[in-house]
Amino acid sequence: MITIAERLKIAYDRIAKAIKNSHILGQKVALLAVSKTKPSTLIREAYQAGQRQFGESYVQEAVDKIAELSDLSDIEWHFIGPIQSNKSAQVAAHFDWVQSVDRIKIARRLNDQRPSERAKLNVLIQVNIDDEQSKSGCSLSELDALAQYIATSDNLVLRGVMAIPKKSDSLNEQQHSFAKLQTCFNQLKSQYDSIDTLSMGMSNDVEAAISQGSTMVRIGTDIFGPRN
Ligand SMILES: *Cc1c(COP(=O)(O)O)cnc(C)c1O
Repeated sequence: MITIAERLKIAYDRIAKAIKNSHILGQKVALLAVSKTKPSTLIREAYQAGQRQFGESYVQEAVDKIAELSDLSDIEWHFIGPIQSNKSAQVAAHFDWVQSVDRIKIARRLNDQRPSERAKLNVLIQVNIDDEQSKSGCSLSELDALAQYIATSDNLVLRGVMAIPKKSDSLNEQQHSFAKLQTCFNQLKSQYDSIDTLSMGMSNDVEAAISQGSTMVRIGTDIFGPRN
């Protein structure tokens, strides 16, 4: 059986190769290990192999695992799922980053609910980059107002943007979606000094994302195996 440590190494090698093939050798691309639905024992195994950044999508499940792993003091938790209003307080209390903020109402609640003893909450705006009806994410026309709201909130730091593009197996189509998000990222970066994170790329489209300037890919299946 292939171990989590071996799967992580394969993922990091894949990222390094994509950086090399994109001729962006100076580029740093972080790996977020997406551990949703997977038990804390597997997360601990990944941590012991050197992984520090983990992504979760379901609030209650994540809060339980964060408690089980509270002895790992330098682990970094990213919330990447849809945020319902009645769950925002738990997200504000337990996470280091939130990548899925898509409306002012949720940004306001996270800012109000962030415990004062914790560092500011790092925020990415999720953008509905292909304008799909079914997807969460703010529209391109709402992006500026939401960015300004977050950037001026005392307990939040606006770090960048995230998207889940339209499903496609064509490299060209994947790159086209990611290029749109890169444009958003560059525009925000020219306005706000705090912007440094372009979160795009999953198990299926890491190469396309890195070719368009991704600084963080989010990989679940390739590290922890398929989800039920
Ligand atoms: C589940 C999920 C991922 C990981 O997807 P894989 O295909 O398993 O790599 C990445 N990003 C988000 C927002 C997710 O919900």
